[in-house]
Amino acid sequence: MFNAILLNRKEDGTTDASLTQLDDAQLPADGDVTVRVDYSTINYKDGLAITGKSPVVRKWPMVPGIDGAGDVIASSHPDWKAGDTFILNGWGVGEAHMGCLAQRAKLKGDWLIPLPSGMTARAAMAIGTAGYTAMLCATALQEQGVAKDSGDILVTGASGGVGSIAIAILSAWGYRVVASTGKLGEADYLKSLGATDVIDRAELSAPGKPLQKERWAGVVDSVGSHTLANALAQTRYGGAVAACGLAQGLDLPASVAPFILRSVKLIGIDSVMAPKAKRLDAWQRLARDLDTAKLDRITKEITLRQALDSAHDILAGKVRGRLVVNVNA
Ligand code: NDP
Repeated sequence: MFNAILLNRKEDGTTDASLTQLDDAQLPADGDVTVRVDYSTINYKDGLAITGKSPVVRKWPMVPGIDGAGDVIASSHPDWKAGDTFILNGWGVGEAHMGCLAQRAKLKGDWLIPLPSGMTARAAMAIGTAGYTAMLCATALQEQGVAKDSGDILVTGASGGVGSIAIAILSAWGYRVVASTGKLGEADYLKSLGATDVIDRAELSAPGKPLQKERWAGVVDSVGSHTLANALAQTRYGGAVAACGLAQGLDLPASVAPFILRSVKLIGIDSVMAPKAKRLDAWQRLARDLDTAKLDRITKEITLRQALDSAHDILAGKVRGRLVVNVNA
């Protein structure tokens, strides 16, 4: 038997989330690698799954947890053997395939990547999908020619998981980073991660003009809606915006003006189905470039039971940085 968070759909369509015990026979039959999870994490999407606020769960009952790290117990996949250490991010785990907010999981070997040498399972989960997505965004800006001397980089949703790690990465790479936040009281925290300036997100969150004063060489946006529209309208000629999130909304009330008059590039970032080569590259860069002291400052450790409440907190925007879940505590 092992401990797990289990989600069930109630008759009225709401989600029941509880801490329970499962046995191996309840793990999915279509996995080929059984793993011991050391750490998982609470991402925004885990918050949506556990609270049932959005229909991210597509099979019931479900163990949530889109991220996990630990070691292999048994494998029939040629690339994995008992004792190997792994990271799992996405691939529909915690949505359509039982996830990692549990002490055990049965996953597909094709989904797993090795834990980079020198990185602990706890650090990998402190980074989690949020941090790996931040790296995909930062890399996308670089690939689009946004250089450290191109000008300021705007990071929205700055005190959140994606935002905090994006600031740490970009500042480590020598970029000048401006953090947009609703928590101005966290300005010192954001500066300690590497932000040069901090602005009030209210400057970006209301409807704005299609073209505005050119401010940003690049943008990492985890917020969407009017914030993304204004960020596009303020991006300098030839600049790039990496869009990965929807904390303000799924809509994009923008015009084509920034694209056709300033050659602004809007780059979509998806972490869930990203190919393995991209993941390996992102995780190697994270192992190399992310300052572990900053990661510790971003991270709070919680238990599986506490994860149930934290799911509500993350949707309420109350979480600063990253929550790592010690599933064995
Ligand atoms: P967090 O909840 O940790 O961070 C989101 C941050 O957005 C909050 O901390 C807050 O920052 C800001 N925010 C919250 N509500 C609003 C609002 N109404 N208007 C403006 N800003 C708001 O989540 P994550 O960092 O884990 O994820 C951020 C987004 O990215 C989510 O939408 C998530 O679904 C998405 N995502 C997408 C991925 C992909 O593959 N495309 C992968 C990972 C995440 P502050 O208080 O500083 O303003």
